[in-house]
Amino acid sequence: MSGGNAGRLVVVSGPSGAGKTTVMREVFRRSRLPLKASVSATTRLPRPGETDGIDYYFLTPEEFHRRRHQGDFLECFEVFGGGHWYGTLHSEVEHGLAEGKWVVLEIDVQGAMKVMEHHPDAISIFIRPSTLAVLEQRLRNRGTESEDAIRKRLARAEYEMSFAPRYRYQVVNDDLQRAVDEICYILEKENKQP
Ligand code: 5GP
Repeated sequence: MSGGNAGRLVVVSGPSGAGKTTVMREVFRRSRLPLKASVSATTRLPRPGETDGIDYYFLTPEEFHRRRHQGDFLECFEVFGGGHWYGTLHSEVEHGLAEGKWVVLEIDVQGAMKVMEHHPDAISIFIRPSTLAVLEQRLRNRGTESEDAIRKRLARAEYEMSFAPRYRYQVVNDDLQRAVDEICYILEKENKQP
């Protein structure tokens, strides 16, 4: 991608419970770069407080698959194997890049691999806990999930962590401010050396 005001793609993944949403929220607040979150489409239902078009485009399975067959997605996958589909719309990425934005995709590892295949220049960041034991502790402290759900998330986390070496950067989130500083530094560095 050429210099100047060219947009960039930033791909962020990490196991659920690694704190990636909190870290990225703070990065958005702190960074002086023109970051723009890509809004994904999903077939899952909105959680309390989530808004259509802001948190996700909440689509019916019929609509999602119609758009999938129409070729509207840069990538889309059934995440967690739980029957819910998630996908990045070409339109989200293209509009952002055309405006010179740094389009941030917070997506799962399968989606990230696909995006990196098509955009080898994407800045890929994997946010991880130092160990799976730390992640397990965090999931338990949340106290929102059953034992069975925790086990499933941990198995999934182990699978996702195996993809970490394929990302350009790995950031350990043991300390929120340190993780945020590190990501802001990575983005600044990439800005200087596109
Ligand atoms: P949640 O349902 O908790 O919002 O997200 C569940 C998982 O779906 C997270 O790991 C998140 O990164 C992933 N995800 C969200 N949007 C997309 C997307 O557009 N594509 C893919 N492949 N995964 C996504």
